[in-house]
Amino acid sequence: MVAEAESIAVLTGAGISTASGIPDFRSAGGVYSSGNANVFDLNAFIRNPSIFYTFARSFYPQVRDAQPNAAHQALAEWQRRGKEVTVVTQNVDDYHQRAGSSPVYTVHGNHIHSTCLKCGDRVETETLLPLILAGEIPRCSCKGVYKPDITFFGEMLPEYDWDASVAAIHRADLVLVLGTSLSVYPAAGLPGYRRLGAKLAIVNRDPTPLDPEADCVIHGDLCSVMEQVSSLFSKDRH
Ligand SMILES: [Zn+2]
Repeated sequence: MVAEAESIAVLTGAGISTASGIPDFRSAGGVYSSGNANVFDLNAFIRNPSIFYTFARSFYPQVRDAQPNAAHQALAEWQRRGKEVTVVTQNVDDYHQRAGSSPVYTVHGNHIHSTCLKCGDRVETETLLPLILAGEIPRCSCKGVYKPDITFFGEMLPEYDWDASVAAIHRADLVLVLGTSLSVYPAAGLPGYRRLGAKLAIVNRDPTPLDPEADCVIHGDLCSVMEQVSSLFSKDRH
């Protein structure tokens, strides 16, 4: 299916990042289950930004130091071999971008930039890192607090990325769902925008609600599946 597709839209979720060692916030053992459900809540952030920034003190260095894995790299590699591959991700890390995929639409925002809640000043989060690691709340010169461009609960999804994702999925002849249980809406509804006749393939550790309507379902380790698909695809091309 990958070899035959002209245009591939890929929806990725936490499962592709956990393979790089980044915790899945929503599954057992993740942040939400350890009593920090307020970490990504906008009202909680406005009341007390230190809830998020205490978490960020370990999360940001973890994201910075981990690397894109074989699954991220496979998608970028297909693109280098001439496939049109649009990545739509629910993840807030930057591993698809670091692996070289483009475009990457981030439907839950990303941590790469932060914006002052008061005046809208936007900076690279990395420039705030020394302050955050020192246990301080990063503030703008206007005294407003910087919030990462991650979509918090209580916020609208980024409109541009959402619209571009819907368009890419509608244009694709193969929609590939990787490492997401398709349980978080509205992102879980994105594969529903595929056009009639487009193929749907799902690779995830656990079953998803869309498995019954998919043309191909693989429950397995994402990295090893993607490595195998890539090697089949390269044999096919040579
Ligand atoms: Zn400001």
